[in-house]
Amino acid sequence: MVLSVQASNAVMNEKKPPLIIPIFIPHSGCPHCCAFCNQSMITGQGKNLPDSGEMDRIIREYLAYKGSRSRVELAFFGGNFLGLSPREILWFLERVRPYISEGRIQGIRCSTRPDTITRRNLDIIASHGVSMIELGVQSMDDAVLSRVGRGHTSDHTRQALDLLKAYAIPTGVQVMIGLPGETGEGVIRGIRELASFQPQTARIYPLLVLKGSRVAKWHAAGTYVPLTLERAVDQAKQLHQIFTRAGVEVIRMGLQASEMMEDKTQVLAGPWHPAFGHLVLSSLFFDRAVSRIRDVRPDRGAMVLRVHPRSESRLRGDKNQTLEKLKKTFPQISFSIETNRDLALDEIEVS
Ligand code: SF4
Repeated sequence: MVLSVQASNAVMNEKKPPLIIPIFIPHSGCPHCCAFCNQSMITGQGKNLPDSGEMDRIIREYLAYKGSRSRVELAFFGGNFLGLSPREILWFLERVRPYISEGRIQGIRCSTRPDTITRRNLDIIASHGVSMIELGVQSMDDAVLSRVGRGHTSDHTRQALDLLKAYAIPTGVQVMIGLPGETGEGVIRGIRELASFQPQTARIYPLLVLKGSRVAKWHAAGTYVPLTLERAVDQAKQLHQIFTRAGVEVIRMGLQASEMMEDKTQVLAGPWHPAFGHLVLSSLFFDRAVSRIRDVRPDRGAMVLRVHPRSESRLRGDKNQTLEKLKKTFPQISFSIETNRDLALDEIEVS
């Protein structure tokens, strides 16, 4: 007997993602410092803005890695892009214009706070090739937003999402899990509402206790306890499912691995893992495999799990942990894994 499942999972589709050229503008345009934030540390860049020469150097360096990708986008990350002055916003966009005119860059992304999405700002960036705006939503719970000193409310997010839709600008949302005062049910409720706005993409970040942040002080005083890695993976998995069921593509889970992130004198506590997203996707594969195996109702014996070659590591999990968990869940069955290129990336075939 052969059963297969094909859950909708946009992260696992075949298309090659665009090459992203990151330009970091740490803390720039930020009206406050959010309690969990230390962008200077994450980007390793201090508070310096890149000058014209530095931007050209970064762009050329990344373009050399374009390979067979059909699309290149430049992204302003690490600050509040639309919180910069109109003169600064235009200065940055003008630096990218020649590359767009030559067809070497196809779009610009910027991350910004919901309260900077105004008609005036959207009119300023119109016609400069901004292809996506990523909103730092973090939470839809006003009490949580106030506790971490965001300085905006969930209504700003609702208004921003409506306005971006009216301007037909593709939108991404960035959310955090493990924020002080947040409950598991509150997060789920907020993400359901967010997904109902149908943004194009989502990023999910677990809160890490960064040196120099206010959360680090709360952690030292014992008033803030971060999520365990296990709990963070579980919450991210639930968020991933809500987003993907609503047709929102989850493009990142967890912060990018770097030497800085491995430094325990900088990242003081929290669910850090260099392959956080892989852990979440493996956990999703585990749930799917369990469901498929239960459908077959096996008594005992040998079972083959077949997946696309590119999904094998997700089925095995980090250091084969997912496979080991399956063996513990079904001790009377011996499992083997085979690969089959004809299967979809999110498909598991059981026989
Ligand atoms: S989280 Fe975003 S808005 Fe808040 S201080 Fe950091 S970069 Fe600025």
